[in-house]
Amino acid sequence: MNSARSVLITGGNRGIGLATARAFVAAGDNVTITYRSGQAPDGFHAVRADVTSSEEVDAAFATAEERFGPVEILVANAGLTRDGLILRMSDEDFNDVMDANLVGAFRCARRAAKGMLRLKRGRLIFVGSVVGLLGSAGQTNYSATKAGLIGLARSLSRELGSRSITANVVAPGFVETDMTSELDADRKSQILTSVPLARFATASEIAEVIRFIASDAAGYITGAVIPVDGGLGMGH
Ligand code: NDP
Repeated sequence: MNSARSVLITGGNRGIGLATARAFVAAGDNVTITYRSGQAPDGFHAVRADVTSSEEVDAAFATAEERFGPVEILVANAGLTRDGLILRMSDEDFNDVMDANLVGAFRCARRAAKGMLRLKRGRLIFVGSVVGLLGSAGQTNYSATKAGLIGLARSLSRELGSRSITANVVAPGFVETDMTSELDADRKSQILTSVPLARFATASEIAEVIRFIASDAAGYITGAVIPVDGGLGMGH
């Protein structure tokens, strides 16, 4: 097992982020989660931050660093959807999703890179989505952000690789979280016909892959898009 590392997870109060926080804590790491609204879950070092604010991102990193030292692992997980068909999608719906999912991840990565460059090691892990490569009707905004994360991660892996900093995208398919609980039963069964494993993932199945990407065993993986999608995106 690795010795305790300072890990920062955005959107760690629920869903995939919370499952990931639990996985890192179970592995003995020191975890700081950010949460935007509501209450932080009990038992975690938590700081309120909206990833659409560079100041709040900066303050969250400063709090994590004060408590646990330089952030060695970033899990840029915070994300949201504002679905709608193209003719009905407003500039605001497009921009809001862009600002949180893609620019938010960029803000976090830029802040994390500062400390990682000094440490000469680090793991940047972006939570993408199968739809970043597959596309999704009604999700032009969301899919574009998830495709954008791939360019972001691959550029960072070239920019920072010589300092032993890796940058990867973990790309889940459909996962049982609040995000997918909005889907009605018909839509869910329609989706399942395209998933070879014929079920949604649990949040912890995504968390375990993220934890692996942060492990010593994954030290030679960078610029990769790692699907955890039950086969939905095969070939993409
Ligand atoms: P949830 O909706 O359960 O949680 C989303 C998290 O992101 C919440 O903590 C939310 O905070 C936070 N968040 C959203 N916007 C912001 C913001 N502007 N600043 C800070 N935090 C923000 O989603 P999931 O756990 O399902 O999703 C996590 C990630 O996984 C997302 O990036 C999503 O796109 C991706 N993903 C999810 C899939 C799924 O099927 N569930 C499939 C593929 C990818 P708050 O509680 O305040 O709203």
